[in-house]
Amino acid sequence: MAVLVIADHDGSTVRDTTNKTVTAALGLSSDVDVLVVGQGAQAAADSAARIAGVRKVLLAESAGLGHGLAEAVEATVAPLAADYDAILTPASTDGKNFAPRIAAKLDVAPISDIVEVVSADTFVRPIYAGNALETVQSSDAKKVITVRPTAFNAAAEGGSAPVESVAGADAPRTAFVSEEMVKSDRPELGAAKIIVSGGRALGSAEEFHAVMEPLADKLGAAIGASRAAVDAGYAPNDYQVGQTGKVVAPQLYVAVGISGAIQHLAGMKDSKTIVAINKDPDAPIFQVADYGLVADYKTAVPELLAALG
Ligand SMILES: Cc1cc2nc3c(=O)[nH]c(=O)nc-3n(C[C@H](O)[C@H](O)[C@H](O)COP(=O)(O)OP(=O)(O)OC[C@H]3O[C@@H](n4cnc5c(N)ncnc54)[C@H](O)[C@@H]3O)c2cc1C
Repeated sequence: MAVLVIADHDGSTVRDTTNKTVTAALGLSSDVDVLVVGQGAQAAADSAARIAGVRKVLLAESAGLGHGLAEAVEATVAPLAADYDAILTPASTDGKNFAPRIAAKLDVAPISDIVEVVSADTFVRPIYAGNALETVQSSDAKKVITVRPTAFNAAAEGGSAPVESVAGADAPRTAFVSEEMVKSDRPELGAAKIIVSGGRALGSAEEFHAVMEPLADKLGAAIGASRAAVDAGYAPNDYQVGQTGKVVAPQLYVAVGISGAIQHLAGMKDSKTIVAINKDPDAPIFQVADYGLVADYKTAVPELLAALG
């Protein structure tokens, strides 16, 4: 049995989520190849080659792949699929975009967001916003799977796999027009070791930034937000943590003025240490918090900043 992992990368290096997906893939088979798609992505392919346990790295390049077009990824992967029994990719924004398209092309059911590999055909995945775990067994000849990276440890560095070029397809009927990227010096939310997250309690965009940014700066943290804070315009969309936002599992998650609705918990309850500041002692966030502070954030956050020095 051979497994292909489609890498998540930034053009120069593979993201940690790729190492975690390799760990999941090694649970299916010891024959794991990594496919790097992009344009000018040789350095990313070289970094994939250093992941321990990887047999070989395939590098596919084209203009469409450089812009991450799902149609180009599917057209590149489909011809390679003949050599593989399973295709895995992180459940990132890109992976969630192209994996169903690849599955449709191969006429198999995609298996999304797995958190455990039970055997080569059986997987565990969360359902109902993480309130239940479902064990699914697939009888499809080829599996197309997205992997929840926070559920797996990252495969270590130390490999030296060969890198081989393969044909990179273009998107036949789709053209890249433009993209707007949010530039930030802060750590990326999905990869941050510390996240400070603000909720509806902050009351305005000005207050959100005035309270959350000094705290994030002090802790070297990424900033997250509840959906209520995002919907109210206090924070940008890409800050949202939860069922319909990002799923994170940092070492430390500090929730400020967030009630802890199940849809929010679905995105952060696997964090190693959770600190909650909320003035309502009955707020559900305290059920998952390791440290809970029943307090008004307006006094608690300045006190915390002062204590941090
Ligand atoms: C299909 C679906 C998907 C969803 N997806 C997501 C998702 O991905 N992410 C997400 O976050 N939500 C999601 N939601 C919304 C979710 O149900 C909640 O509405 C939302 O998480 C609430 O955000 P909040 O905790 O900031 O606001 P609230 O629930 O209004 O909580 C605000 C909290 O702040 C506290 N507070 C108020 N003033 C202060 C103060 N001065 N100091 C300290 N504490 C204070 C209050 O006690 C309260 O607990 C989804 C909902 C649906 C239906």
